[in-house]
Amino acid sequence: MVWPCRSGCGPRPRRPKSTDERRFVSARILLVEDDAATRTAVARNLEAHGFRVTTSDDVAGALRAWDAERPDLILLDLGLPDLDGSAVVRHVRRDATTPILILSARADERVKVATLEAGADDYVTKPFGMDELRARIGAVLRRAAGPAADPTGIVKLGPIAMDIGARRVTVDGTPVELTPREYELLKVMIAQPGRLLTKGRLLRAVWGTAYADEAHYLHVYVSRLRRKLAAADATGAVEGLITAEPGIGYRIGDPATSH
Ligand code: CA
Repeated sequence: MVWPCRSGCGPRPRRPKSTDERRFVSARILLVEDDAATRTAVARNLEAHGFRVTTSDDVAGALRAWDAERPDLILLDLGLPDLDGSAVVRHVRRDATTPILILSARADERVKVATLEAGADDYVTKPFGMDELRARIGAVLRRAAGPAADPTGIVKLGPIAMDIGARRVTVDGTPVELTPREYELLKVMIAQPGRLLTKGRLLRAVWGTAYADEAHYLHVYVSRLRRKLAAADATGAVEGLITAEPGIGYRIGDPATSH
């Protein structure tokens, strides 16, 4: 018996991979490091593990590469010959939430906090092992991908569902009316469940760079957001979902989900 189909009967074409799936296969990494030996060793190792790597040895080159390529992740040394690497963090954060992993010999806690405040995602202290570095890269890429949206594009956390396309929020099916800022605040937080987001980072993401020090805005909006979500919640599961880290920032969901 001859199989009757001439065409179109083979295995169904695979659904194209989503952007997030592609990221894990061959994320594009911008490596900014002025030490040639470190730069070469890290780039080679990452390429051998399937990442696509672009390198730069100073801030000016990093900003050109950022503008030209919009990589999926930036590995950033802080001590660079032209400017401090934190200039790259500030520049990138004007436009994007692209993950930034700091590579630095500096053990200074203030520098660490300041760089995280400026919007870096995580910190690896030199000397680091490549296994550790790749694990950290994987963690920040997973966090950046956010919670898996279902096929209709709805992001869920506990009883909260955000329909990003329709800009609609429900708690256990009950609609919640949010102002545009409240909506943005929830969207930024729910995209990174479990992650501690500094006040500065939330303020920049939701209000803009000029508001980075206006912590009272954030306090007021977080309170309103909690109240509105709780008012729609018959399950009790929203209670305690958004937690404050005094002096540092806020997180939504269980911190264990961030790693
Ligand atoms: Ca350096």
